[in-house]
Amino acid sequence: MASRIERLKAATHVYVGRCRCGSAVAACVDTQDNETAKDVSGFVRQGYAVDRVPIADMHEGRIRLEQCRCGGAPTKQGDLFAAHPSDRSESDGA
Ligand SMILES: [Zn+2]
Repeated sequence: MASRIERLKAATHVYVGRCRCGSAVAACVDTQDNETAKDVSGFVRQGYAVDRVPIADMHEGRIRLEQCRCGGAPTKQGDLFAAHPSDRSESDGA
């Protein structure tokens, strides 16, 4: 029985979760075990469309995970959405 590491090494595909805006916001390696099933069902629960793609597409950059564009994905990275305070320190000259 292969260990999870071995299954990861032998994996040929990944599951990609896409938000409704089309952003690939989540991915998990298809190790054909319970971990994969759990991850994928988590994507579905969050309302993502799930694609199964060759792992090479990821390694070679044809698919990139990105920050969701519509804000609908619960990625919990609010800081990235928060507007950066414009850092104008208004010098009032002497
Ligand atoms: Zn989105």
